[in-house]
Amino acid sequence: MKFIVTKELGKLARWLRLIGFDTVYFENESKGSLIIEALRDDRIIITRTREKIDDLQKKTIVVTKDAVQEQLKEVIQKSGLKVEEERMFTRCTLCNDLLVAAQKEEVKPLVPERVYNQQAVFKKCSSCSKVYWQGSHFEKVKKVMAEIRTKVYS
Ligand SMILES: [Zn+2]
Repeated sequence: MKFIVTKELGKLARWLRLIGFDTVYFENESKGSLIIEALRDDRIIITRTREKIDDLQKKTIVVTKDAVQEQLKEVIQKSGLKVEEERMFTRCTLCNDLLVAAQKEEVKPLVPERVYNQQAVFKKCSSCSKVYWQGSHFEKVKKVMAEIRTKVYS
């Protein structure tokens, strides 16, 4: 399942990437190019306002909530997407590209010393080289997603 998220939902785009979904953040205002890109890559459009989208375009999710975690819940409910722990932290939150394994030595100059000493496994973005590791942030995301799942499926 792939997504294209309109301009006003940048935070949501980052979260979808964080949990491993291929998500284009569409900053352009043009409705035409939005639809073309969605159709070309078979992406579900996520937006806040129905008016932006042609009625013929069925693959659209309209989010109504303001808080990003509530928005995520809406997307999960409306799309039926499965949140899987193995998918989390596989994609760069900045540019949507896949993360690749990185050698510990190689990331040494790029991460804080404390992180370097505490962590064993590092990944980096294949495109922008941003370095990722499974620190406290990882635990927090897992916890948030577990809460969302409980709410969605109860
Ligand atoms: Zn990146």
